[in-house]
Amino acid sequence: MKTATYYLIFIALSVYNCNFLFAQENRVLKNDLNFSMTDKPFFKNQQRIPQPITTNNYDLKYHRFNWVIDPAQRFISGSVTSYFVATQEQLNSIQFQLSASMSADSAVYNGKTLEINHTGNLITIPLNPFVSLGKFDSLTVFYHGIPEQNGSGSFVNYVHNGVPSMWTLSEPYGASDWWPSKNNLNDKIDSIDVFVVMPKGNHAASNGILVSEIPYGDNSTLAHWKHRYPIVSYLVAVAVTNYARYSDYYKIGSDSIEILNYVYPEDSTELRAKTPELLKSMALFEQLFSPYPFKKEKYGHAQTNMSGGMEHQTMTFLGKSSFDFYIMTHELAHQWFGDMITCGSWQDIWLNEGFATYCYALSLEYLYSEVKFKDYLKEMSHYITTKQQGSVFCNDTTNVSRIFSGGLSYYKGAILLNMLRWVLGDNDFFQGIRNYLNDPELKYGFALTQKLKMHFENQSGKDLSEFFEDWFYGTGVPAYNIQIKQQLNLNASTTILQTQYESDVSFFDMILPIKFIGEKKDTTILFNHTFSGQTFEFKPDFKIDSVIFDPEIKILYRKAEIILNQVSSIQDNIEDKILILSNPAKGILNIHVKSGSINYLKIFNLEGKSENVKLVKQENTLLELDIQNLQPGMYILKIGTSEWTETKKFIVIK
Ligand SMILES: [Zn+2]
Repeated sequence: MKTATYYLIFIALSVYNCNFLFAQENRVLKNDLNFSMTDKPFFKNQQRIPQPITTNNYDLKYHRFNWVIDPAQRFISGSVTSYFVATQEQLNSIQFQLSASMSADSAVYNGKTLEINHTGNLITIPLNPFVSLGKFDSLTVFYHGIPEQNGSGSFVNYVHNGVPSMWTLSEPYGASDWWPSKNNLNDKIDSIDVFVVMPKGNHAASNGILVSEIPYGDNSTLAHWKHRYPIVSYLVAVAVTNYARYSDYYKIGSDSIEILNYVYPEDSTELRAKTPELLKSMALFEQLFSPYPFKKEKYGHAQTNMSGGMEHQTMTFLGKSSFDFYIMTHELAHQWFGDMITCGSWQDIWLNEGFATYCYALSLEYLYSEVKFKDYLKEMSHYITTKQQGSVFCNDTTNVSRIFSGGLSYYKGAILLNMLRWVLGDNDFFQGIRNYLNDPELKYGFALTQKLKMHFENQSGKDLSEFFEDWFYGTGVPAYNIQIKQQLNLNASTTILQTQYESDVSFFDMILPIKFIGEKKDTTILFNHTFSGQTFEFKPDFKIDSVIFDPEIKILYRKAEIILNQVSSIQDNIEDKILILSNPAKGILNIHVKSGSINYLKIFNLEGKSENVKLVKQENTLLELDIQNLQPGMYILKIGTSEWTETKKFIVIK
């Protein structure tokens, strides 16, 4: 039980301005809304899905990339050397994926030059003599070509400030557009070296650490990057232009991690001021989860002209406007969720994107404020319940925009995690995640949703099968009808009905928190809702005046109709910008404003006459108005911001 304390701040209300209150919160929300919900710049474009490798009969150990890249030309040439172990008896040929538009010139195996069979998107190289099961061998493929301009962003050339530049982005299916790869989600390359020859004056950004950058002939530079952690093919990346370079350092004890930034010289001063903010997120994720996964090397950012970001392992690529706290934090989170542990199927992409999105929410909660955290949860819930009714499970991996669905893989994935946290409690939730990250079968490898579920179940002892059926595989959301009756002796009961909105789930089991308020007291009761129409008895020690469903933003629902002693009010995730929390109201009117800087707030009677009322309390998005001088009857509340104006009716009782 908690008793509310009132701060009596009397402010004349007819014209007042709350900008100072809302400005900070809005910054984050607006950024999020402007950003189209995903970090992937080309998610709306379709990529060709390369023909899969027909015989998965080798385990990749190592790639050495030798690339010649002139950012002024849409062209790449070079070689990829592969070390591998045969996983079948008598491996007599090996396959990689390479776009049909590229030319596979030759392969060298055991000192002999071999012809390559290039059919469709597959290259096949005969191995003679064959490689025995479990034996280690290597070969080099030489190739060149103009990577196809298919809008996927696989290989992009452009000009900034008059200077040519290029960058790559291969997720999900683009690696084979520009290099012969095993483009899959079941075999990481244990280690890579990247050598790039480029015109003098350029620098190449890539995975791992820069070993050397030396003159190569009179007019070129050779850069060598090495990365000694397992990496999936879609995270191998390179960007080349006349970069300016600087480092931030994350220090913990005597340890430090370099955060290496490759930025355009013309933007260097501006971006130098922005990147240090990320150090807070690095500290938070190390504390909540586990040490930064690529600690022996580095983390970094390379500037590109993409509109968003891409979490290339140890070297995120960002557009200029994405050097902000939101996207930098999201991409950093991917180093744990997506890079160290990669989704084992595109159906499970939420293991990358739902986590990265929720990690940004956690950074708001732990580094900024509860209010910002909850506002972000509300924004996501609003988007999901109004615009996207599908499942977190990605049911069409041939459609790149479905894989990177902002509403489903990102937002609903993040809200799923927040609900799991509610169901499990903080301790089991965070420990379950740490157990998942430290599972030797998954760490630096791949995971499916079932493995994550198993870790939460083992940690908590709870069976989460139904939870995942409802919230991972299931579509749609619940809506609630909550009927509350209270007798004069304060005995109360509530009957909770559930309907499902655009859903294939028959019933969403959930622990529902409901806050009851009255006589300057309040109490929140948890109802374990297991069937529609369930009735619960309870007895608060006060007369209930108003009710808030899910006051702490723990669960996902479309709307809740609350009927208190036969007077109805609606709480929803649909269109309302303002919510009247005490209706009918007696003495005090409690209002929740969903977003916006209020510059207009008035109360009218039904004849249109403006009434004088006083603001008695303002706490972030919650307002309390003193309405004691209003006669009983119906009134209209009108609130406006620069972006919207909304009116709501309410009833005053004595
Ligand atoms: Zn992401």
